[in-house]
Amino acid sequence: MSNSHISFEFFPPQTAEGVEKLGLARRALAARNPEFFSVTFGAGGSTRDRTLEAVREIKAEGFEAAPHLSCVGSTRENIGSILSTYREAGIRRIVALRGDLPSGMATAGEFLYANELVEFIRKETGDHFHLEVAAYPEVHPQAKSARDDLLNFRKKIDAGANSAITQYFYNADSYFHFVDECGKLGIKAPIVPGIMPIVRYSQLARFSDACGAEIPRWMRKTLEGYGDDSESVQAFGLDAVARLCERLLAGGAPGLHFYTLNQAKPSIAILERMGL
Ligand SMILES: Cc1cc2nc3c(=O)[nH]c(=O)nc-3n(C[C@H](O)[C@H](O)[C@H](O)COP(=O)(O)OP(=O)(O)OC[C@H]3O[C@@H](n4cnc5c(N)ncnc54)[C@H](O)[C@@H]3O)c2cc1C
Repeated sequence: MSNSHISFEFFPPQTAEGVEKLGLARRALAARNPEFFSVTFGAGGSTRDRTLEAVREIKAEGFEAAPHLSCVGSTRENIGSILSTYREAGIRRIVALRGDLPSGMATAGEFLYANELVEFIRKETGDHFHLEVAAYPEVHPQAKSARDDLLNFRKKIDAGANSAITQYFYNADSYFHFVDECGKLGIKAPIVPGIMPIVRYSQLARFSDACGAEIPRWMRKTLEGYGDDSESVQAFGLDAVARLCERLLAGGAPGLHFYTLNQAKPSIAILERMGL
């Protein structure tokens, strides 16, 4: 696999110290020659300026930057203005999402689902942007059924998405099954697995509960058993995730997208373990 199929995801930092740390992480990861760096976007537009700032920095360093854009709680006018700003900033790739309504925000706004955002972006900007969308091999937590979720995923591709990045998972079979099912529906868009390195178990357990990603029992029990021994957690996590990545690539996954949480070392350790 050439390095060009690797991508790294960041969140926009809130403090000057966070900006500096992210700069260091980004430069370390840049040595892996990623296809792009993506930057998350708080639903309801809460990180609008910081996401833009982060992607501008990435572009200034000569890398492709992909801002995420979530539509829930937004109006067409608002999304239209963000698209114009991204265009002016030279952005060519967007990760288009529904997002989750922040607590306390009563109205869903003018977009209910990500397929509507994809349709809107295509209508407003034609083929200017390469559009990535989210995919859920372990099924989105709000989906009525796996089948329903799959058909909803197809709506995003039919609306004009070019490729997809998955929610993270630790069970390679869930990914292969999802890709097979997509193939049966005639979906040809590349589906890149999202990879979450294991750094801190308590944080991972919290994220996983919130987003519906399963930590298999054998992994959970092993990680729980390490308690505060972070060295053992990380050594086990490195083995498990590097093996997962190897299986995914050997089984035909078109690349790897790392959820870095703004840290370079865990993703680099996985790539080095894999000899990449
Ligand atoms: C790679 C990746 C990056 C992410 N980045 C961010 C980020 O930057 N900011 C952020 O806030 N969140 C982010 N998320 C989280 C994401 O916003 C949540 O998972 C959210 O709950 C769903 O977003 P979506 O775009 O997948 O929604 P959708 O594709 O709209 O799906 C949401 C749910 O609605 C159902 N559904 C979809 N379309 C329809 C339809 N037309 N009719 C009926 N039901 C439908 C689906 O089955 C699913 O259950 C990211 C997730 C992933 C996997």
